[in-house]
Amino acid sequence: MTTTLDAKAGGAPKGGKPLFEGRRNLATQILVYIFILVPFAALIAAVPFAWGWGLGWVDVVLAVFFFYLSGLGVTVGYHRLFTHGSFKAKRPLKIALAVMGSMAVQSPPVTWVADHRRHHAFSDREGDPHSPWLFGTSPLALAKGFWHAHMGWIFDHDVTNKQRFAPDLLADRDIVRVNKLFAVFTGLTLILPAVLGGLITWSWWGAFTAFFWAGLVRVAVLHHVTWSTNSICHMIGERPFASRDKAANFWPLAILSFGESWHNLHHADPTCARHGVKRGQVDTSARLIWIFEKLGWATDVRWPTEARLAKLAAE
Ligand SMILES: [Zn+2]
Ligand SMILES: [Zn+2]
Repeated sequence: MTTTLDAKAGGAPKGGKPLFEGRRNLATQILVYIFILVPFAALIAAVPFAWGWGLGWVDVVLAVFFFYLSGLGVTVGYHRLFTHGSFKAKRPLKIALAVMGSMAVQSPPVTWVADHRRHHAFSDREGDPHSPWLFGTSPLALAKGFWHAHMGWIFDHDVTNKQRFAPDLLADRDIVRVNKLFAVFTGLTLILPAVLGGLITWSWWGAFTAFFWAGLVRVAVLHHVTWSTNSICHMIGERPFASRDKAANFWPLAILSFGESWHNLHHADPTCARHGVKRGQVDTSARLIWIFEKLGWATDVRWPTEARLAKLAAE
């Protein structure tokens, strides 16, 4: 097996390369704070803001549209395609998914994939970038663990070694190009809703409210949904499949997370294209991959089989 396949399956690529490639510089660190805390502050400000004035149907429709666009970019693109290789995508689809994922303002694709492969390689053990179980099991330790797994880890200064965890993406010129344009897509993901809101309502006020709801608030909500997979889905839920960590299926988040909260199956079988494998387990990301396959844009999709699921089932 090649190192790439190892990484996609969640195993640590060998080769003796160190975990980290250096420390984050101050400017990047400040930007991380701004882009995490400003959308979050917007979310809190949104509550009194919502009642009374400044929220209309145009904002709601734009927010939902951009939530799906950027959210599916992360789950189908960053996660299932780039991290785990659960299907192959034609070049235009691959680039589109990398751009859509960038619009979630989580990190450029190569950084995201490197962090996430490190998560699978060390899941819930030392070396996992965001396990809630690293501080102990007392209530206080778990509260600290929850915070760390949810968003505290993002403020860590250590940068995951991309040469070790994502050499395949570093060798992909399309991905590297999208990676370099991350700042542009971060700008676009906030400006586009404002432009659309302004044009639809033909007003500056409409542009502002769309910027607020479909830009800032949408980014903040999507951040927390994604982070909940790392925090909640490693703490609470059912574990019908055998995985060597604490990953769990947490049904209440299935729709909001585009199927990513069926996290126990995902850790039991990381390259599987569908996470919600049982009847009634909604998995929007898998449905979209299925549509891409029907259109001929996606091939070699790793769909679950009965035999494989039976093998993975926990006693
Ligand atoms: Zn996980
Ligand atoms: Zn994963």
